[in-house]
Amino acid sequence: MTRAEFVVVVDLLTGCRDTRPDAVPAVAPASAAQAASVTAPPAPAEPESEPRPPSELLPDAPLSGPASIRVPQLDCSRVDAVGYRRGRRFPIVVVEIDGRFLEEETADAYWAMREAAAEDGVDLPINSGFRTAAEQTYFYRCYTTCTCNNCIRAAKPGYSNHQSGRALDLWQGPGVHEWLKGNGSRFGFVGTVRSEPWHWEYRWHRRRKKGSKPRFPHVCPAAQE
Ligand SMILES: [Zn+2]
Repeated sequence: MTRAEFVVVVDLLTGCRDTRPDAVPAVAPASAAQAASVTAPPAPAEPESEPRPPSELLPDAPLSGPASIRVPQLDCSRVDAVGYRRGRRFPIVVVEIDGRFLEEETADAYWAMREAAAEDGVDLPINSGFRTAAEQTYFYRCYTTCTCNNCIRAAKPGYSNHQSGRALDLWQGPGVHEWLKGNGSRFGFVGTVRSEPWHWEYRWHRRRKKGSKPRFPHVCPAAQE
């Protein structure tokens, strides 16, 4: 895929680069029939009214106080969700870590990376992970109507990289960025936006053939079933 295929915008809300919603998608959105054939159970963290206040999602707010390693909170409920990439929907399974949802293979890699960072004295908490269609719809509506969320630019629903469940915004606490630059690739994470050091995307799922074993152990045992 060439760079020219993408026109990017910077979502100032999360500091995340998203494919521009009005660009012609390289992959056509699913037809109504296709969409109907996809089981779409309730997405996790689907807000009944509106998502959390945007201030909770700001990626560049520094952690306060001295660096410390927190024990991550894991919820292995493994929720079926609907992911999107470039306007095309697909089913994903997400697990919850510290109140943020991640696609499960991404969660496995992130967990391994977080443990390795902790051994080096670096804490890697998540600020933002998977974003539901409802959340993206809310942010996009705020952008287009300029009636909420400070009119901050947001990608059209279906075109935010966070909707794949494989993009993370990591708190930029002490030593985090340097550690990620030196070690993120060992766990399949790539910093995809130079100006956004908090944004990392898991890419190794693209390397392996369908059905082959993921590289990292499942953080949630049920995923092995
Ligand atoms: Zn991001």
